Amino acid sequence: MNETQKRVAVIGAGIAGLSAAEELARAGFAPVVFDKGRGPGGRTSMRRAPPFEFDHGAQYFTARDEGFVERVRHWQSEGVVAPWTGRIVALASGRVSELREPTLRWVGVPAMNALATRLARELDVRCNTQVSSASFEGGAWRLRNAAGELLGHFELLVATLPLPQAAALFRGQSELAQRAAQVEASPCWAVLVGLHERLAVEFDGAFCHDSGLSWIARNNSKPGRAAGESWVLHATPEWTRAHLELPREQVAARLIDEFARASGVELQPLAHSDAHRWRYALPAPLEPSGPSSVASPAPLAWLDDARALAFAGDGCVGGRVEGAFLSGQAAARALVARG
Ligand SMILES: Cc1cc2nc3c(=O)[nH]c(=O)nc-3n(C[C@H](O)[C@H](O)[C@H](O)COP(=O)(O)OP(=O)(O)OC[C@H]3O[C@@H](n4cnc5c(N)ncnc54)[C@H](O)[C@@H]3O)c2cc1C
Repeated sequence: MNETQKRVAVIGAGIAGLSAAEELARAGFAPVVFDKGRGPGGRTSMRRAPPFEFDHGAQYFTARDEGFVERVRHWQSEGVVAPWTGRIVALASGRVSELREPTLRWVGVPAMNALATRLARELDVRCNTQVSSASFEGGAWRLRNAAGELLGHFELLVATLPLPQAAALFRGQSELAQRAAQVEASPCWAVLVGLHERLAVEFDGAFCHDSGLSWIARNNSKPGRAAGESWVLHATPEWTRAHLELPREQVAARLIDEFARASGVELQPLAHSDAHRWRYALPAPLEPSGPSSVASPAPLAWLDDARALAFAGDGCVGGRVEGAFLSGQAAARALVARG
């Protein structure tokens, strides 16, 4: 970094934060990315319990935007992503039906976090670093960790933590905080199950109806995974809200029962089970209006122009990997254009 270059920080090393940082680096900045997690990835993280592996957040992603499709093809050529060709069906009260629309589903290889790991490779990403306060003083953002230690001061800042959390961090510091406070995000209990044998069902993933589960998937049917028979079960937002504070073991037991009700097949012989609660799993973005949206071509990120702050992430555009990627990119471009 040269003396006159603006200092830039990104909060969050999920897909949005990494895409923003990549774009800022491309524009000649040297962004520092802070994440409170152990590694990059955010909601595209994975869990290991050998011989089982679980993508316990995002299950796959789709690509519709032309530029994003091009990037995905490039990552495919690098071996970072691949199509998931498992049989995905709809499931209602034990009855299996085919989905109407054919969908190309992409997954990270060997796990969903491969994409974040790839993006982080060429960036300055500082994990295990929670940003606990952000204050705008003398034309720069001062970021501090939980111990109150200064992480640095930055002239440009992109915040990609889930919007309800961004609202709390930036309360009283930016007009964007009030808007972010209006965004609701639904929680999701994820249950991770390892079996001693292959489960005798003729599908690899299913959207569930009339159930406390919204989605079930055989993780080892995705490309490049370990062979252990690994199932991921996602509860509906309603079920999760009703059982938000239940201990993990009880959540696992109840959703394993729910699996049997939904599919007519018992998840056994059981070798491993655990549960993870995503508190801000899927956001419900606001209507695309308001003075602070990046107006053109679509409100993919929010900009506080006076304070050189952008909010980005799936909360701005809808709970999807593609949306998060495009939002981070849009936030970075808006800040670069602002100068
Ligand atoms: C259960 C579940 C299933 C999903 N299924 C799909 C799917 O099938 N397809 C799809 O496309 N999408 C899916 N999604 C959504 C997808 O995962 C998200 O849209 C996307 O990963 C969001 O990326 P992001 O960068 O906006 O946010 P995140 O991934 O949440 O990244 C935010 C980052 O900020 C960090 N952070 C938070 N607070 C702080 C702080 N104070 N200081 C420092 N760091 C902080 C977090 O650790 C995190 O890494 C799913 C999500 C969940 C939870």
